[in-house]
Amino acid sequence: MASRNESSDTLRNKCAACFRQFNKMEHLVEHMRISYHSVHEPICGICKKHCRSFESLREHLIGPLPKQECKIIFDVVGCKFCLTILDSYNSRMIHQGRCQLSNVNAGLIARMPNLGLRDNLTIDSGYTRGPQVVALACKMVGGGNDGSVDLCGRICLIDENENIIFHTYVKPPVPVANFRYESSGIRPEYLRDAMPLRLVQSKVQNFLCNGEPLWKVRPRGGKARILVGHCLDHDLDLLQLEYPAMMIRDTAKYPPLMKTSKLSNSLKYLTQAYLGYDIQTGIQDPYEDCVAIMRLYMRMRSQKHAPEDYPLASDPQNRNNFASWRQAELERMSPEEMLAISRSDYYCWCLDS
Ligand SMILES: [Zn+2]
Ligand SMILES: [Zn+2]
Ligand SMILES: [Zn+2]
Ligand SMILES: [Zn+2]
Repeated sequence: MASRNESSDTLRNKCAACFRQFNKMEHLVEHMRISYHSVHEPICGICKKHCRSFESLREHLIGPLPKQECKIIFDVVGCKFCLTILDSYNSRMIHQGRCQLSNVNAGLIARMPNLGLRDNLTIDSGYTRGPQVVALACKMVGGGNDGSVDLCGRICLIDENENIIFHTYVKPPVPVANFRYESSGIRPEYLRDAMPLRLVQSKVQNFLCNGEPLWKVRPRGGKARILVGHCLDHDLDLLQLEYPAMMIRDTAKYPPLMKTSKLSNSLKYLTQAYLGYDIQTGIQDPYEDCVAIMRLYMRMRSQKHAPEDYPLASDPQNRNNFASWRQAELERMSPEEMLAISRSDYYCWCLDS
């Protein structure tokens, strides 16, 4: 809301998304050309400020240096996990109780036999909506002279309903120097007769492509599956797997889930901050990581954002949608009009739903 002592010039030069103010209109135009503000950014439910990431929205609402007007309201009716604003204290309590999840049944993991787990890749295909989504996670053992080279020692794949599709030990192609038992829970005898990496690699590859040749994989209308993970580049590298970037959703690389410094957050942090529970304490099972990854993905995918015909700045219809306007034309627009033609520079996961 405008205060009386702000000049009309300053108001005109205020970004309609992040509220930054500029002395000159041309500077606001310059800002809009490079900001890629959109309806897909995390937005404060109180003042409607757009933030680059949930972490910057969290800082805006909770601190260390919050916007006081928003913090006061958020403290009463805001969910500290998904950061949405509810309409009363009571509905906040009910919502937050559902929004905070708990860790998967540790007993379930413990009951799994140590060898010969589920290794016959099957998925229930009774869906009608979009491509199937699977989450993948690995646990590493150490190779090389000092055991510092990551090797995949265990792998898990789950479906959207957290059902295990594939869960097995993997026999690395080179000797293991360090089994990292304290975190991996992997003993030499578990890998001795485990599935060789090459077989794991081809099973997973075939499963992901789902009968589609790799070169034919396309994001819509095909059979290939969407792959969700955390730092998938690293996992795919270890598995010697290739998969097209357009089918990958990585919770370590998704701008709304990254730090304000644009570095990745750990899966452990994301799970604590957004889902409200602890993972990776003691011996780790890749199933636990898969579940956390899938839940983060589902939470991001279920966001309700206004539909747009061409949601990405890189869509050919939008290409240079700022550059194609003459500077003088943009300077005559209101900040709101400029925001209306601005599009996201990343693929929002709400577009998968
Ligand atoms: Zn802005
Ligand atoms: Zn979106
Ligand atoms: Zn706000
Ligand atoms: Zn919530």
